[in-house]
Amino acid sequence: MELPIHPRRLAEGDRPAGVGPVGVPGYSGPQAISIDRGLIAEIKPIADRLGRPVPEPSHLAMPSFAEPHLHPDRAYVGSPRPPRSLEDAIEVGARPEGYIPGTAAERARRLFSTLSASGATRARGHVGCHPEHIAAPRWQVMGEVRDQLKEVMDIELVAFAVADTLTDREETSRLHRDLSMGRYQLIGGSPNHDSRPSESIISMMELAVRTGVEVDVHIDETLDPARLLMDFALDEVERRRLEGRVSFSHCCLLSALPEQQTRAIARRMAGLGITVNCQPRTNLILHEYRVHSPRRALAPINLLIDEGVHVRLGVDNVDDTFCPFPTADPLEMGYLARLAGHLYDDARLISALTDGRPTLRSGEKADLTLVEAKTLNEALSLRPGRITMREGVVVALGSN
Ligand SMILES: [Zn+2]
Repeated sequence: MELPIHPRRLAEGDRPAGVGPVGVPGYSGPQAISIDRGLIAEIKPIADRLGRPVPEPSHLAMPSFAEPHLHPDRAYVGSPRPPRSLEDAIEVGARPEGYIPGTAAERARRLFSTLSASGATRARGHVGCHPEHIAAPRWQVMGEVRDQLKEVMDIELVAFAVADTLTDREETSRLHRDLSMGRYQLIGGSPNHDSRPSESIISMMELAVRTGVEVDVHIDETLDPARLLMDFALDEVERRRLEGRVSFSHCCLLSALPEQQTRAIARRMAGLGITVNCQPRTNLILHEYRVHSPRRALAPINLLIDEGVHVRLGVDNVDDTFCPFPTADPLEMGYLARLAGHLYDDARLISALTDGRPTLRSGEKADLTLVEAKTLNEALSLRPGRITMREGVVVALGSN
């Protein structure tokens, strides 16, 4: 290989043939990564010409992040105060100052660019489908943002069909048309907050079958066992043969059910190829306000992984009525999952941030992020600057 380029010398637009020395999770000692035609050609240890070890690398090279759960149309609208519950956040978010369509494109671009500078090369955004919010141009605006950023990031849009739209005939035919035309890549919603939750789930799964899109549904974002919907949703996934095409977001209720019941649900999920998207930051803030000895509403990450479920960590809301914090950084979600969910295993944690890539491997696309840290714990807690590469091209340089 040509001499690898030191990460500090990389600039936006560069297509280096090799990067190093870097640390790589699971590899010991400083490594050089060679890149050829957008792929990782080789990862091998670096030693100096006399065979002595080279100095400790300044950067950790990780697979780039795949952000599974954002609300780009709400990001950065701000909030009059922190939320007191999910229902409170929904109520405040429905006010005119909580949802501002006129600036949605600009705010969404800022969100996706921030994610890119934080090391993500893929992101999924739920786009509000409230009749008053979505009215015609919504998808169009987000579709344009998606196009504008296509060199930097793969963006998937979920039609977030809330507020009983899934049981409204006119709305569902509009959804059917938009999904068939590829305006959204997935269908979603929050059936626990609809007036006929089971019917909403049926309608969502039916739309997925008819249009061939995948499903990503906000489900059981509650701690009240009487509102459990997951069993019904799993029946529908099975009945309609949607195995491997469905993600469940939040699943907070799994943190409040007896262990045996939780494990039984987790095993069913694993069998049906369900992916669980946890959003530790919003789960922690939205539930149990002013409750003595609060439950923390975070789905049991390790239990789910032990039972074979794919678990992903998402940023979710950014500086809006659901969550007041303006950061959009997958490493922060990893930090929270390690802290609040005891996700101590490095490979599991990295997989949860990267859609299942525990480390870098030769032959894979050179989608990676170089984090200025020596260890994963240092990266998670300091969240330093990083360099994002997509198919071997430096697409973003972030500083913190
Ligand atoms: Zn969400």
